[in-house]
Amino acid sequence: MILLDNVTKTYAGDKEPALDSVSLHIEPNEFVFLVGKSGAGKSTLMKMITKEENPDSGKIIIGGIDLDYVKKRHIPGYRRRLGVVFQDFKLLPRRTVYENVAFALEIAGMSGKEIRKTVPKVLELVDLLDQAKKFPSQLSGGQQQRVSIARSVARQPKILIADEPTANLDKLTTEEIMGLLKKINDFGTTILVTTHNENVVNTLQKRVVTMKDGKIVDDQKNNGIYKLDEKKIPPKPKRVIQTPGHAIKRKVL
Ligand code: ADP
Repeated sequence: MILLDNVTKTYAGDKEPALDSVSLHIEPNEFVFLVGKSGAGKSTLMKMITKEENPDSGKIIIGGIDLDYVKKRHIPGYRRRLGVVFQDFKLLPRRTVYENVAFALEIAGMSGKEIRKTVPKVLELVDLLDQAKKFPSQLSGGQQQRVSIARSVARQPKILIADEPTANLDKLTTEEIMGLLKKINDFGTTILVTTHNENVVNTLQKRVVTMKDGKIVDDQKNNGIYKLDEKKIPPKPKRVIQTPGHAIKRKVL
């Protein structure tokens, strides 16, 4: 579904590569957290998927499409096949909640009849049907992010990518948004999300891919936890070797 093979990218003027021989394979319907300190290369990896940036070398295949063969004029069409959620929502301020979602469908070429059928359904999914006539400025941050998610899932993309979707939200709202992404994943969408939120990563127990200095340094396929620095991982408890004089077994760190 998402395949990066030996992808390297160095931005013009930079000495070190932002991505250094990165290989990553994400299966259909996976939910993957991408974590790493600032500058680790997470956004660059996301930009490779959206084709906002091109690799210097390596192969990228997304949903069966080899990005080497997506011509410039076809990039907008390719991007519409992905659901993309941003940390700053990117809603149209002069359009209502309903219109924000409808507009995205109109651009994608959906008929008026289909749009009128689809928009209420996705607004219901994100629990915003009762706010359909409001403008973005009349909504909370969490509600705005829900509109943005509604807009990106309305076309039923097979893949949804989100770069720090909860960076500007408080703890409760963050949990709500992550719960919504999980629900969308349960419906069959593959999800890749970058986050700095340790709590969310540890609670959802999904696959966790960790980046450092442009490389993938850790890939926990199941029940992953948030760990940036190897030094911070507590060592596994070891059993003390029993000698004849030991009456009590004990564990030490
Ligand atoms: P992250 O998303 O993990 O914070 P980025 O992918 O934004 O990491 O950055 C990875 C590296 O690439 C950093 O060293 C950063 O300075 C560099 N970088 C990112 N974008 C650009 C750019 N447009 N031009 C030059 N260097 C960039």
